[in-house]
Amino acid sequence: MGTRIKTVIKHSGRLLCRMTDLFLPPLCAVCGKELLGFEKDLCLHCRAGIPFTYFWKTQNNPAETVFWGKVSIEKVYCLFFYVNKYKKLVHAVKYGSRLPLGFRLGRMLGYKIKEDPFFVPPDAIVPVPLHPRKKRKRGFNQSEIIARGIADITGGRVETRCLKRKRFTPTQTLKDRNSRWKNVEKAFSVSSAKKRKAELTGRHILLVDDVLTTGATLEACCAVLMKEYGCTVSIATLAFVE
Ligand SMILES: [Zn+2]
Repeated sequence: MGTRIKTVIKHSGRLLCRMTDLFLPPLCAVCGKELLGFEKDLCLHCRAGIPFTYFWKTQNNPAETVFWGKVSIEKVYCLFFYVNKYKKLVHAVKYGSRLPLGFRLGRMLGYKIKEDPFFVPPDAIVPVPLHPRKKRKRGFNQSEIIARGIADITGGRVETRCLKRKRFTPTQTLKDRNSRWKNVEKAFSVSSAKKRKAELTGRHILLVDDVLTTGATLEACCAVLMKEYGCTVSIATLAFVE
């Protein structure tokens, strides 16, 4: 009974948030200022100041060096540096206050990826999965929303069934690289469904996450995808932590 009441409160809370969105003026996701009629998500000032990485124009970019000596990645694309007030963009998408923003930032990343002269269109776009328990609690997977935005521009289908998170890993915020790796090393598996295997073996996958920090989670995903499907992998994230 208690759980049911909590669920009702949670859902009506979300509904209330959506309703207030209709009546309150939209605010800039970065500085919080009221948006003008022609502005969307970000005010013009914050939009002009997005700290883009330009990794789509850089060979051997800093995000790619994160994986050197660990797994062989084709290309790594990150939209912006995770710095100062722009960290708020990731938080707004991750904790669900601005879901359409996640989709639109995904589209922006999609356009940047297409600017790479060496861009190879992916056969499948795979979001880093949440554990089913976490996804139920949060109600969505932020990486999937970003992936759908990217796919809208680059083409390629979003594949959410091939990669699974089998262990519930505690939040990674305060762990160092070694303990992060131990935490995620065996956390992922791939679908053994014949159809999935036939579709993805030897293909090029674009793996999507919200932010690239130590790369431990993405590395674990790549390792299992490459081992089980023999595919090549590129990576795309919204933000990059230097
Ligand atoms: Zn602003």
